[in-house]
Amino acid sequence: MRYAILSDIHGNLDALKAVLSALSSEKIDAYVCLGDIVGYGPQPAECVHEIQKYGCIVVAGNHDFAVSEKLNIGNFNVLAKEAVLWTRAKLSAEDIEFLANLPLEERLEGFHVVHGTLYAPELFDYVQTSYDASLSMARMEAPLCFVGHSHVPVTFVQGQVISYSLGQVVQINPRNKVIVNVGSVGQPRDKDPRACYAVYDTESQTVLIQRTHYDIESVIAKIREAGLPVPLGERLRVGR
Ligand code: ZN
Repeated sequence: MRYAILSDIHGNLDALKAVLSALSSEKIDAYVCLGDIVGYGPQPAECVHEIQKYGCIVVAGNHDFAVSEKLNIGNFNVLAKEAVLWTRAKLSAEDIEFLANLPLEERLEGFHVVHGTLYAPELFDYVQTSYDASLSMARMEAPLCFVGHSHVPVTFVQGQVISYSLGQVVQINPRNKVIVNVGSVGQPRDKDPRACYAVYDTESQTVLIQRTHYDIESVIAKIREAGLPVPLGERLRVGR
C-alpha cells in the first residue's frame, strides 16, 4: 500500500491542488489527512470538498474544531482568531458538521495518525522535543505515527535515546518507534515556502517527505481580496 499523508492544508486550495496533481503521477492507494483542513486560508469550503472527493481518512485539527465550535479559541492568537471567525462564516452547516464529527485519532494498518499528540489528542499539544516524542511513543502500539500541527517536517526516532532528523527519507524499522511530522501543505513554517506532504510505502517501509511549488502570489491576492489579515498571506512567501 502507498499512502499519501497530507496535513495542515489551512484553506489553501492552490497548494492542495498542486500536491494532488503531483501525487496523480504516483501510485497512491489511500489518502490520509492529519487535520487543519481550514483556518488561515481563503478557500476553506473548497478544501473540505476536495478532501471529501478523494475519500481521505481524516482526523481533526485544532482549527477544524475551533471553526466548528468544539474548541475554545481563547488560546488562539489574534490573527488565528480572526481567521476562525471568517472561516466559520464561509462554511455551510454541512461542512461545519463534517469538521465537528472528525475523530481525534485513527489507528490504521500498522500506524497511528493524530494532529497533535497521542497522549492527549484533545489538547492539541505539539511534538517538538525528544521529551514530547517520548510521551506519545509510550502510547504507540504500532511502530509508526504520523503527526502534523507544527507545520515543520521532522522525524523522531526511538533508539538508545530519542533523536530527530530533518531528512527527506525515513526508513521504518519495526524495532524502533518513529513519529513523523509531515509538514504543512498550505502554510509551511520551515522557511521552505513549497507545499509539503509525505508518501508512505508499506512494502519498502519508507516515508518520503516531498515538496511541490504552487502559485503563492495567487493565494496572497485571494487572502487580500477576502479581507483576511494580510500577514497570513505574507508569511506564505517566506514559509514562516
Ligand atoms: Zn495547522
